[in-house]
Order: sequence, then C-alpha cells, then structure tokens
Amino acid sequence: SNLETFFSQLLGNSKDIPPEYYNFSLYPDYRKLIEQIQGMKDIGAFNPYFTMHDGLNNHITVINGQEFINYSSYNYIGLSGDPRVSAFAQEAISHFGTSVSASRIVSGERPLHRKLETELAKFIGTEDCIVYVGGHSTNVTTIGHLFGEDDLIIHDALIHNSALEGCKLSGAKRISFPHNNWEELDRILQERRHKYKRVLLVIEGIYSMDGDIPDLPKFIEIKKHHKTFLMVDEAHSIGVLGEHGRGIGEYFGINPADVDLWMGTLSKSFASCGGYIAGCKALVEYLKYSAPGFVYSVGMSPPNAAAALAAINVLKSERERVKCLYQRSKLFLELASQKGLNTGMSRNTPIVPVILGNSQQCIQLSQLLFEQGINVRPIIYPAVPDKEARLRFFITSTHTEEQIRFTVNTVAEKLTQTKAY
Ligand code: PMP
Repeated sequence: SNLETFFSQLLGNSKDIPPEYYNFSLYPDYRKLIEQIQGMKDIGAFNPYFTMHDGLNNHITVINGQEFINYSSYNYIGLSGDPRVSAFAQEAISHFGTSVSASRIVSGERPLHRKLETELAKFIGTEDCIVYVGGHSTNVTTIGHLFGEDDLIIHDALIHNSALEGCKLSGAKRISFPHNNWEELDRILQERRHKYKRVLLVIEGIYSMDGDIPDLPKFIEIKKHHKTFLMVDEAHSIGVLGEHGRGIGEYFGINPADVDLWMGTLSKSFASCGGYIAGCKALVEYLKYSAPGFVYSVGMSPPNAAAALAAINVLKSERERVKCLYQRSKLFLELASQKGLNTGMSRNTPIVPVILGNSQQCIQLSQLLFEQGINVRPIIYPAVPDKEARLRFFITSTHTEEQIRFTVNTVAEKLTQTKAY
C-alpha cells in the first residue's frame, strides 16, 4: 500500500544516515577536541582549563587549598566580595527572593531594575539604559535585533565574539576593519555607505586580548560624517577608564550623546552578572518592548541587580580605587618593559599581555609561574594565532606593588627557562 511504501522509504532513508549526524560522542568537532586534550596530556602539559578556585576571585585566589597571586580575574576594582556589595545583595534576596520568576515585561519588574538602569544612565551620561541578564547575550540580542539584511555592520578586527554572534544573527552584511585603523574604516564607508540603509560601527573601550584603547574622537568624527550608528563595548573600560571610572567617554572628554550605543557588562568592575545598553530614550524604550533577549528572558535576579547597584555607589564614593588601578597597571607595564617583555599594544590599562613565541611555550611558562604561586592564564591557538600566544595578566586595584614586582621578576626569570621550546 502507499502507506507501506511511505514507511519503507522513510526507514530506508534513515538507514543511510551516518551516526555522527545523530550521536554527539561521534561529532567530528568533539573528536577533534578530545584529540587536542589527549595531545596536551601526552606532552605532559597540564590542562589550563576549568581550574577549580575557592573563595573570592580578586588579587588572591585559592586553588587546591593553596593561595596564589591571581591575574585571572575581572574584579578590576575589587568590588566583588566588598562587604557592602554582598550585604545589599543579601538584603535583596531577603526581600525579593533569588529570582523574579518572570520576564520584566510581564510580572518580573522590581524597583531594583529601574534604579539600576537610572543609576547607570546617570553614571554614563545618557538619557536611559536597559539591563539584560548576560553580557554576552546583551550584544547578541541587541545587534541581532536592531539590524537586518539591508544594513551593514563594520567592526574592529579584534571585536569580541558576542558582537560577532550578534552580527550573524542580524543577517546584515558584515565587514571588519584592521585593528584601530579608522583611516581604513573611513575608506570602506566612502566606498560602501550609500549601498546600505543603516550602518553600525562597533568598537571596544579597552580591547580584551591586548589592553589597548581606540581613538574614540576619530571614530565619532567618522560616524557623524557618514551618518552611521556607533556602538562601544565597554566591558573592560567601564569602572576603569576616566577619572571617575565612567569609561572611555570620560577618558577622552567626549559628549556621551555622540555614541549611539554604550554597551557594557556588569560582570567585571560592577561585581555582578549581566549587561546593559545605555543610550537615548527612543533606543532604550524600543529595546525594552522588542529585544528578544529581554522580552523573552527572565528579569535580572534581585541579588545581581542589587550587587551592581551597590557597586556603582561604592565606586562613586571611592574614586581612589580607579586611580589605584591605573597606578598598578602602569607599574606592571613599566617593569615588564624594563625586563624586555613583549607587552604588545597594552597602554596603562589593567590588561597586560606577555606575548610569547608559541602556544606550547605559553602553557609551559604559565605552569612554571603556577609553581611559584602565580596564577595567570595562557591564551593560546586558536583564541589567538599560534605565534601570538600570550599570558594575559588582569591587574586589579587590590594587587600590592610588592606582588607586582615579584610577579614581573618571576616572569622574566622563568621565561629564560622556556626558551628551548
Ligand atoms: N564584551 C567583551 C568585550 C567581553 O570581553 C565580554 C566577556 N569577557 C563580554 C562582552 C561578555 O560579557 P559577560 O562575560 O559579562 O557575559
């Protein structure tokens, strides 16, 4: 019968489907990953991933019961673990529970959300602000939602993965320009601006692999000239740059209204979890009623909203944290330069890479430093090209000068023992 033919065709067809199409343990990319991990074991290298930490993640961390000087934390101004921040988060739990249990647009709205958004907008100098539950998802959903097939997104070559994923989701044409090269960006726009409706330029406040800062005033000039939108990801620059820690806008003394989308995360200086977009009222209102990652997602949890709010308040009253972070970062960089270490493009920001010859040397050096009580994570291929493998040091305001001196001396000394690679 027809039905039998239909079923036998169905069965016949499914017999030919190779198992890697429906079995994750045979997934080709998974097999490749397992081989790489095995490869590391075979050469006796330790696996630098998923190290288990205990306690706070600031300038000190505890691994297997042992204390390390720590350079793998975004706790830039030491506010995660600050008793005032923790107390306010605990208070929020007592009053509102641990989850708001609904999207804010339905019944998840709590006073903490609006207070946090208002404080962030005031801090950055914009009309309004929207907070999302994740920093990564803030970029994905905002870029993915605001732009479409008729639009063009041009971003710095070193932009973070979250912005790239947002570009993909949007379906817009995507082009990257060489790192920090605004002349090249200008040239691309000269040639292509007229072919698209909306154009978005995406840059970062401090680049997360290299610790350098773009020439923001130049990008503003270009965006005005070509009538585009400009987005700045301040994940690593909010709470870090500028006299009050208000970010790259304050650092250059520009008018905050000249950047259309100020994006940032709450997971670094603000001691919490989540992300924000600050900008004009129209933008924020539109996103609040329509961005999928906001509308179809739960509202930020009470302790997370409270922690970020308390962190902003502490930062505002203790500006010296920002100053101290700058001084420690500058000291690290100066000492590293004196020792002849290759710190790439880093410019007195709390991200200092020490660039090495290859991934193996990088893993080996991080292991030797670990044995000396220094925890720093290697960034290796494929995250960066093999010849640019690096140890990435995150400095915090709570590192002591002594810890920094000891660290740089130890790096220089141990590096000589890895030269054979
Ligand atoms: N943007 C940049 C530049 C980042 O470095 C990161 C994460 N480190 C994010 C966005 C995502 O932020 P989160 O970790 O808070 O999700």
